[in-house]
Amino acid sequence: MEQLIVAVFFALFALEFVVEFGLNELNLRYVRAYWAEKKLPDFFQRNMSAEEYEKSVQYTLTKAQFQRWAEIYGRLVTLIVLFGGLLPFMDRFSKDLASRFFSITHAQGLIFCFGVALVFSIASLPADLYSTFKLEARFGFNKTTWKLYSTDKLKGLVLGILIGLPFLFVVLWLMEATGSYWWIWTFFFVSGFQLLMVIVYPTLIAPLFNKFEPLPEGELRDRIMRLAEQVGFKTNGIFSMDGSKRSAHSNAYFTGIGKTKRIVLFDTLIAQMTLDQAVAVLAHEMGHYKMKHIRRMLVVQTVFLLFGLYILSFLLNYRPLFAAFGLDNPSNPAALVLFSLLSGPFTFYLGPLINRLSRKHEYEADRFAIQTLRNRRPMEEALINLTVKNLSNLTPHPWYSAYHYSHPTPTERIGAIRAISV
Ligand SMILES: [Zn+2]
Repeated sequence: MEQLIVAVFFALFALEFVVEFGLNELNLRYVRAYWAEKKLPDFFQRNMSAEEYEKSVQYTLTKAQFQRWAEIYGRLVTLIVLFGGLLPFMDRFSKDLASRFFSITHAQGLIFCFGVALVFSIASLPADLYSTFKLEARFGFNKTTWKLYSTDKLKGLVLGILIGLPFLFVVLWLMEATGSYWWIWTFFFVSGFQLLMVIVYPTLIAPLFNKFEPLPEGELRDRIMRLAEQVGFKTNGIFSMDGSKRSAHSNAYFTGIGKTKRIVLFDTLIAQMTLDQAVAVLAHEMGHYKMKHIRRMLVVQTVFLLFGLYILSFLLNYRPLFAAFGLDNPSNPAALVLFSLLSGPFTFYLGPLINRLSRKHEYEADRFAIQTLRNRRPMEEALINLTVKNLSNLTPHPWYSAYHYSHPTPTERIGAIRAISV
C-alpha cells in the first residue's frame, strides 16, 4: 500500500510540474512571437514607446526564465523534505526537545510543525533574494535595502511565533479533545480565526510593515471625498501607503470588512497618475466594496476549508499514509504537515477556478467605476498607465493568464470597458 501511495503522489506531483512548467514555456514563446512581429493592440501602440515595449518584453522574459529554475528548485525542496528523511528526523528531534525542555502539552507537535515550516521558509530565501535584489533591481523596481529586507523577515518570524503558534496550539488541542467530530469544531475555529485576521490585518498587522496616512489635503482628496459620499463609502477609510520604500511597482487595493474596511493607494500610484486616473482607480476599488467581493471570496474559502478538513478526518489514522513518508506512527501534527505538503498536486487545479471568480470581480468593479464616473476614458487610461509603468506582460498566452491571473489582462479589461454603455 505504501508503494502505491508514493506512486500516485509521484504521478500527480509530476503532472503538476509538467503543467506548471509547460504553461511558463508557452507563455515565453508567445511573448517572443508577438515581439518578433511587434503587433500590439492599438491602444498600446499609441500610449507606449518602442523602448517601453522592449523593456516590458525583457522584464517578462527574464522573469519567465527565472521561473524555470525557481520551479525546479521548489520541487526539489519538497521532494527532499518528503523523501530525504527530514520528516522522521523532525519527528524524533521534536520529541527529544519537547521532553527535555518544554513540559506543556502539544509542545512536540508545535515544534514539529514549526520546524518543517521553518525549513521551507529558509529554503525559499535564495530564490526570494535573487528575485528581489537581482531581477527586480535590474529593471529599476527594487527599492528594498538589505536592512529593510532582514527586518521584514524578522518581523514575519516574530508574527509567525506570536500568532501562528497559539493558532496551531488550539487546532492541535481541538483535534485531540473533541472526538470524531473534531473537523467541525476545527472548521468553526479556523473560520473564526480567518475572519478575525481579515479584521485585524489592515489595522494592526499591515501597519507594522508600512506607514498608512490619510490622503493629503488637495484636489485629489476633495474629489475622492465627493465620490465616496456619492457611493456611500466612509471617507476615513481611504489611505496612502509608502509602497515606494520597497518597490517602484504601483498598486491599489481594497481590504477588510465592517469597520476596518479601507482602500489603500500606493504612493507610487498617486505619483504616476493624473487626478482623473487616480479617481478612476479609487472608483474601481469602491466597486469591490459595493459588490461585497471580499465577503464572497471568504465564503468560497470557507467552503474549501470545510471540504479539506473533512478529507483530512479520513486520513488522520490511516497508517500506510504516514509509513509511506517514513513516519512510524500516525499523529495529528504529522497529519497536518503531510496534508499541507501532499495536497498541492490536488488543489493546484482549483487555482484557475478561484482566479476566474477573481477576474469576474475585476470586470464588475471596472463596470461600477465607469457607470459611477459616467466616463470610460479615465479608467482605460489608468489601466494603460499601470501596465506601462509596471512593465506588465502585454501579450500573455491565453492559457497562462487563464490559469494564473487574478486580474484579466489589460487588453481584456479595456475591451470589456469599451463595451459598457455610459
Ligand atoms: Zn480590482
